[in-house]
Amino acid sequence: MKKQKYVIGNWKMYKTLSEGLSFVDEMTKLLLDVDRTKVIFCPPYTALFEMKKQLNGTTCELGAQNCHWENSGAFTGEVSCSMLSELGVQYVILGHSERRHCFGEKDEWINKKIQALLAYKLVPIFCIGETLEEMESGSTKDVLEHQIESGLRDISNVGNVIVAYEPVWAIGTGLNADSIQIERVHKFIRKKIEKLYSIRESENVSILYGGSVNPQNVESLILTQGVDGFLIGGASLKTESFYHIIKTVEQYS
Ligand code: PEP
Repeated sequence: MKKQKYVIGNWKMYKTLSEGLSFVDEMTKLLLDVDRTKVIFCPPYTALFEMKKQLNGTTCELGAQNCHWENSGAFTGEVSCSMLSELGVQYVILGHSERRHCFGEKDEWINKKIQALLAYKLVPIFCIGETLEEMESGSTKDVLEHQIESGLRDISNVGNVIVAYEPVWAIGTGLNADSIQIERVHKFIRKKIEKLYSIRESENVSILYGGSVNPQNVESLILTQGVDGFLIGGASLKTESFYHIIKTVEQYS
């Protein structure tokens, strides 16, 4: 059976509640005939509650952009998995390079967050990726290996985790990794998961690519071996580009 493809929009710190609601209203009308691709919107926290109501009855789903691993406590500014779960959030982006690099997110925290999310039956979208320096010095595989081993430490149900390979140098830069690079890296990630778990489990894990995906490059990227979909930043903020990307993925699903 063909694996479901994903298109996940990471809105970062863009769109107020009203902007988000009108965007989703327009998108969900356009997406009525999309049924083979899982479309997930990840708005800022402030839009989650109202957007969940708006997405009810559609095939699109809702994700958050971060969470804390503790259920509750004196953690000013943080939001827990139970809070997200109660709102009807189904997915949470973790370890995004902006969180790792701007906010000092550590591998151990990402691991704790994955454990907490799985306990709440939420799906972690576990982001990994190398910096430009790391790529140029030939250490991409070492970096990814370390991120995978530490992020997935003590996780038994890896089939419930989505992995997003996002080279840091490709995020928001207009420079995407090419099909050859992506195929090679996705194969490496799957092999690593196979070594940690089993062939069957590694085959069940969805591995997405993220980094400057746009309407021009989406066709060649979705035809790349081992790509189960995309995590999209900039191009998920405009109806035309996000719609084009989703329709192209749907065409090849
Ligand atoms: C992202 O933020 O996860 C991302 C991939 O951004 P962009 O598509 O803008 O490169």
